[in-house]
Amino acid sequence: MTITTNSGNRGLQIEQPLIFEQNTKGDTAVDLPPIPQVRTRLGTMQRQGRIGLPGLSEPEVVRHYTRLSQKNYSIDTGFYPLGSCTMKHNPRLNEKMARLPGFAEIHPFQPVSTIQGAFELIDTCAAWLKELTGMVAVAMSPAAGAHGELCGLLCIRAAHEANGQGHRKVVLVPESAHGTNPATAALAGYTVEAVPATEDGHVDLEALKTKLSDQVAAVMITNPNTCGLFEKDAIAIAEAVHAAGAYFYMDGANYNAIVGRLKIADLGVDAMHINLHKTFSTPHGGGGPGAGPTVLSAKLAPFAPVPQVVKVGEGYDAVEHAGDPRSPQAFGRMKGYHGQFGVFVRAVSYMMALGADGLYQASGDAVLNANYIMARLSAELTPAFAGPCMHECVFDDRFLKGTGVSTLDFAKALIDEGFHPPTMYFPLVVHGALLIEPTETESKASLDQFIEAVLALAQKAKTGTAADEFRARPLLAPRRRLDETKAARKPVLRWKPIEGGAAPTVARQAAE
Ligand SMILES: *Cc1c(COP(=O)(O)O)cnc(C)c1O
Repeated sequence: MTITTNSGNRGLQIEQPLIFEQNTKGDTAVDLPPIPQVRTRLGTMQRQGRIGLPGLSEPEVVRHYTRLSQKNYSIDTGFYPLGSCTMKHNPRLNEKMARLPGFAEIHPFQPVSTIQGAFELIDTCAAWLKELTGMVAVAMSPAAGAHGELCGLLCIRAAHEANGQGHRKVVLVPESAHGTNPATAALAGYTVEAVPATEDGHVDLEALKTKLSDQVAAVMITNPNTCGLFEKDAIAIAEAVHAAGAYFYMDGANYNAIVGRLKIADLGVDAMHINLHKTFSTPHGGGGPGAGPTVLSAKLAPFAPVPQVVKVGEGYDAVEHAGDPRSPQAFGRMKGYHGQFGVFVRAVSYMMALGADGLYQASGDAVLNANYIMARLSAELTPAFAGPCMHECVFDDRFLKGTGVSTLDFAKALIDEGFHPPTMYFPLVVHGALLIEPTETESKASLDQFIEAVLALAQKAKTGTAADEFRARPLLAPRRRLDETKAARKPVLRWKPIEGGAAPTVARQAAE
């Protein structure tokens, strides 16, 4: 079954060529006076060919970009249950605060005396993060979660070197970890060794203990983990790691599930990044912006990178250089300026708007919503692990066995139902995984709508006669199945004109 229309449009979704292919007449959106006939003095710098910009009128430009924006699925248009991503509503108040001219228009090269308010905001954000986690220090400058991981490992490396332990070259990472964990360890110069998971989706404590030695620098553990489960052995892990002279790095990307309920310092954590853009608002579809402040224990705090905002009397100052007597052991600098300031503003606005009780409720609602989805979907789907989950729930593909429908087909069918598919085939330890994270900002009504759609699809798949239809989906989206691997491996980032006619668009090539 394919749906075709005479125009190529799909309902009110308008099909359109690339903007360069719409250039026919050399029109422009503005009226310019004719260029006077003067001799140029540009010599060899004079333009030889056409500039190659498309000529379009103002309404054509407006329509082009508006149509493009309508093809972009977003949290503002619908449910976005992408596991591990915490795609939640970003209160507009936070955007308003970030746009205040006093915040939005300052420049990092301004004299410190003129940006005291900005420093106070950074310090306030840091104070909340330390209060919530119970940790003694926080490095604010990392620009994302992965950058925060690197910050934590570089602190750990500096600490080992300062203690004559620079020979430790191994970082232990569980099999279920997010890909950034092993990548970070490798980037920091470490060899990565995988720690297996138990049948019930937790880090295998006994296996971890056998891998600990005087060569291990750190253990990186995500908690709650990417199976949506709390690592109940976290304290025992910390004790074993410390007894072996290593440090305990916790990946805090899933902090949304425990904010206000648990001080991670009590688990014995030495370093943890916080994805402000996940847990503390800030829209982050499409790869940015983000911020990954890294909280540190007393043992690692002296090695935190510069710049640091420090309180001096009634005001603030910045420690800008490694070697500054106020921070003599700082390992260096990882980012220009002070970090993602706009994200700090949103995070502070979010925290102040919710307050301590609101943050406590948000993490509770995130966990409640995930468990509601897990409980109701279990009627047709097969949960990967028994028992309640934290902020996300994971199903394996046993419910599709013998139907001819794969996890991918199932997820693609959800697009036709108006939902962004959940995370698929991750975590890797779950066969054919579907990882669903609803977040606390979805209402029961929107969860029910999603649940009904998923249950109906599962029933249809189980009839055993719908495999062809599932494989054809999505049928209602502007594009169907794209070669995502090719797009990632061989991205075509530039449009090149073909002599004598327009090149086919990238999207069309992929769809063909
Ligand atoms: C998102 C995420 C990261 C990486 O964070 P970025 O901000 O995307 O760099 C690391 N670990 C886990 C578990 C995540 O979900």
